[in-house]
Amino acid sequence: MIEVIQTDITTLDVDAIVNAANTSLLGGGGVDGAIHRAAGPKLLAKCATLGGCKTGNAKITPGYNLSAKHVIHTVGPVWRGGGRGEPELLADCYRNSLQLAVENGLKTIAFPSISTGVYRFPIDRACRIATTTVKAFLADHDEIEKVTFVCFSNSDRAEYESALAEGN
Ligand code: ADP
Repeated sequence: MIEVIQTDITTLDVDAIVNAANTSLLGGGGVDGAIHRAAGPKLLAKCATLGGCKTGNAKITPGYNLSAKHVIHTVGPVWRGGGRGEPELLADCYRNSLQLAVENGLKTIAFPSISTGVYRFPIDRACRIATTTVKAFLADHDEIEKVTFVCFSNSDRAEYESALAEGN
């Protein structure tokens, strides 16, 4: 099952929320900053032991003070016009995050709109990559019960709803 909601991802009570992190995993602005603020300082201490994360990959930590039990940190590509592998790397973020969820026995996972903030990936393209990649993964993995796309703005929510309704 896939749902779209408009809220602050740090408020969700799910098995894992996904963080749109940077390669250092040492915190940043946007959703990354919000997750670290809500999870508390133990999250940063844990992230500092992980040796960073490559673009497109994902790493898991506990959720600490969050309602979410875990945080899956993934690093989206910075948009540089689309010709530098950005679409494939963004799809990798969704696939690798879901794979990590399966490996850890997690059933409910919530994604922010990875790379579409400071990293400037166009929302229409990013949300189609997000929805197609998640749908394809779920078709092969019935262990995951619910994927939530968390939008921060009205216009992002409309993009996700229409991408899902179009079936692409
Ligand atoms: P990136 O660096 O991957 O582009 P950003 O954090 O800048 O990541 O933005 C990714 C998306 O997360 C944007 O749509 C932004 O509006 C959204 N966002 C920021 N804070 C939150 C939050 N607390 N909950 C959910 N989404 C958020």
